[in-house]
Amino acid sequence: MPRLPDYHIHTHLCRHAEGSPSDYLDEATKKGLLEICFCDHMPSFGGYDPKHRMEAGEFQRYLDLIEGIREVSSMPVLLGMEADYYEGCEPLVEKLTSYAGFDLILGSVHFLNGWGFDDPEQLPVWELVDLQETWERYFSLLERLVKTGLFDAVAHLDLPKKFGHRLKTPKLLSMASPVLDLMAKKGVAMEINTSGLRKPVSEVYPSFELIKMAREREIPILFGSDAHRPEEVGHAFQDALRLIKEAGYSEYALFRRREMTLVPLP
Ligand SMILES: [Zn+2]
Ligand SMILES: [Zn+2]
Repeated sequence: MPRLPDYHIHTHLCRHAEGSPSDYLDEATKKGLLEICFCDHMPSFGGYDPKHRMEAGEFQRYLDLIEGIREVSSMPVLLGMEADYYEGCEPLVEKLTSYAGFDLILGSVHFLNGWGFDDPEQLPVWELVDLQETWERYFSLLERLVKTGLFDAVAHLDLPKKFGHRLKTPKLLSMASPVLDLMAKKGVAMEINTSGLRKPVSEVYPSFELIKMAREREIPILFGSDAHRPEEVGHAFQDALRLIKEAGYSEYALFRRREMTLVPLP
């Protein structure tokens, strides 16, 4: 296992992850990771996706939980959040992320007009929608996410492929290009998320072609397993490392209090 950080770890507060934060920390220690960042889903407000996230009233508990782990840990434990971008979320994201203790805010899109396109329970909706239009809507939301300047990195950049709903590569690259251009301009990092390897698509988010495009634009990268179970911490980081070196990367990003530092890959 390469000595890398895992910057995308969930907790039981999101209602669809198993194990206590200390179980995740133990796994990271056992695997010899450099450091970890908990990035649980932003709390639910106004009835937004309550099934997959903590309630608003649990936010302080989340902060206390991570603080508690930090105190007993020998490796650095960072405080992060995976914040969904959706129309009108800006004031809420701004308020939550203004909490000074955050190290990293991952931005992600999981919903298109209320359709949780990566939720297995809502998989049949894919039969009813146009593939290309769905990807277009997805990337236009990502572009708006990056424009807000509220997020440090984009998580799982090509998430709609999760169940195998892929676009042909040239189409995908032309659609993703404005988002990547904007990320480069705004200094927003890109997550190399290994959870795709555990999903039907069976490949890292984003795909190798997109990683190469990000490299051409010198977009910094960070590593995330998106662990929802302790044993998933650092999952397939060896493969991810190989892939990004192949794409030409020699550095990756570390975060502290939302400040990025680039360091050489191991
Ligand atoms: Zn996510
Ligand atoms: Zn996640």
